[in-house]
Amino acid sequence: MALENDNELKELIRKAVLLNAIAHEGKAQSGAIVGKILGERQDLRSRVKDLSSLINHTVGEINSLTLAEQTAIVEKKWPETQKKEKTEEKRLPPLPNAASYPQIVTRFSPNPDCVLHLGSARAIILSHEYARIYKGKFILRFEDTDPKVKKPSLIFYDSIRQDLDWLGCKIDEEYIQSDRLPIYYDFTEKLIREGDAYVCECSPEEFRKKILAKESCPCRNLSAKVQLDRWKGMLNGAYAEGQAVVRVKTDLEHLNPAVRDWPALRIIDTKKYPHPRVGSKYIVWPLYNLAAGIDDHLMGMTHIIRGKEHYTNMVRQKYMYEHLGWKYPEAIHYGRLKITGAFLSKSKIIQGVKDGTYTGYDDPRLGTFAALRKRGITAEAIKKMIRDVGTKPNDVTLSWETLYAYNRKILDPMSSRYFFVPYPVELKVLKVPRAFHVKLSLHPEKPDQGYREYTIVPNVPEETASFWISKKDAEGLENGKIIRLMELFNIRVEDKRTNTLTASFASESYEDVRKIKAPLIQWIPKGEEYSCEVIMPDASVTEGYAESACKKLKPSNIIQFERFGFTRVNEIKEKMLTYYAHK
Ligand SMILES: [Zn+2]
Repeated sequence: MALENDNELKELIRKAVLLNAIAHEGKAQSGAIVGKILGERQDLRSRVKDLSSLINHTVGEINSLTLAEQTAIVEKKWPETQKKEKTEEKRLPPLPNAASYPQIVTRFSPNPDCVLHLGSARAIILSHEYARIYKGKFILRFEDTDPKVKKPSLIFYDSIRQDLDWLGCKIDEEYIQSDRLPIYYDFTEKLIREGDAYVCECSPEEFRKKILAKESCPCRNLSAKVQLDRWKGMLNGAYAEGQAVVRVKTDLEHLNPAVRDWPALRIIDTKKYPHPRVGSKYIVWPLYNLAAGIDDHLMGMTHIIRGKEHYTNMVRQKYMYEHLGWKYPEAIHYGRLKITGAFLSKSKIIQGVKDGTYTGYDDPRLGTFAALRKRGITAEAIKKMIRDVGTKPNDVTLSWETLYAYNRKILDPMSSRYFFVPYPVELKVLKVPRAFHVKLSLHPEKPDQGYREYTIVPNVPEETASFWISKKDAEGLENGKIIRLMELFNIRVEDKRTNTLTASFASESYEDVRKIKAPLIQWIPKGEEYSCEVIMPDASVTEGYAESACKKLKPSNIIQFERFGFTRVNEIKEKMLTYYAHK
């Protein structure tokens, strides 16, 4: 039997091609499908050539549909294949010992020295979600105690608050460490007085030599009185930068030398490096473990959810907790989340904005929340992705494509569709028999979302109508070829010269061209064009015409340009300016 007559096989292929297309942004790839069909129909092993040609034919047909059309067919004919997508959202595992605390308290504690980017998403979202799940408290704490090397900047306190707001992470309490120096000083004095900390005057080299040999430095065993005098000296400016540090006593034998007597406070010349909030008011500044450790206790933190690179910090801080008679919070250390190709180096972001490599912190090449927001990546997509990744300690590498897939699932059911023709070329259609009034749905599955309307009136007596189509589509045309102007009519290419691309009206119905796999292309009637620039993820600009209905859009609308991709409207002026999200 000729394979073309095997209806059961044809249906099997159609299903496989559709599913494959949906998994690949609407473009099925025939290679995998041949294997899949052979797996089910071993009788066809001797007829791979025939089978391949039948599959290629179907692939061409299916690939000419939009992703939304493909999904609609599958959901109608094979709803069982789509159920997987709709299974209940993954739930986060319960927090350890949650029941032994009257209220769960979590925190996110950034240094406001840069805008936030995807690298912080896990800490923010998990900490916030857990606080919500347990009806607890989510604290934002600015860790801004390094006015010299990781210098905070006033603009970032606000941008961080904005980013959390955009992510839908409501802050219950906010603290800023640079307001809390007297608190850190009090506890430091207590630690020194009780012999649990000391002021070390050794040079870093001398100290390192001693500590690697598991020996105490000459300062460690001096009397509390001498230590307190040295401490007062630090506060009073008796030491210059680098001449003294406070160290918290740990175990000199600890297997990890980095844990042994860690540095807790140091001198910073704030005349030279003023703090953006408190200027030169203080010269003694706490290091991370002292400030974070004290705050976590005082703020009632019950669960610290952070990357496993912080594990050693927990080990260090536990010594201080023991000295002070405190109980260390529950700590969950998750693995690294890497996004392939995402640009997440703080120092390079700051440098690039400064020297003009990037247009700003929302430059589309960056993985900052500001950039993602501008491109139409939704907070909901980021949250869903992070929830699915969860709190596992193993490292996870995701790609931009993964994030796009989450985002597409959110945007596809709601985004209005419009036509955009990149690098427009004029197309003249001859012999248009009458006026055509078209209503183009804003969404193929949601008629109540509305539509755009255009009337195509042919010139009299020439019966011609002019359109804009994209340069790329124009280049793919051949004389005599039949194509369909999406949802309008079918045309036959007559003359493919560069300056006057001419075609003639062929017929109206889509059915006429479905069998011959005629390409479907988007179009804009001449006179209904609206200049549009799309800023791509690599910051390049794609120019073209959007249809005039886009003039009614508003900044921050996210739409889909058919056969081009999702894009977020940034500006509606004489020109339209949008940022590209993804296919
Ligand atoms: Zn010393």
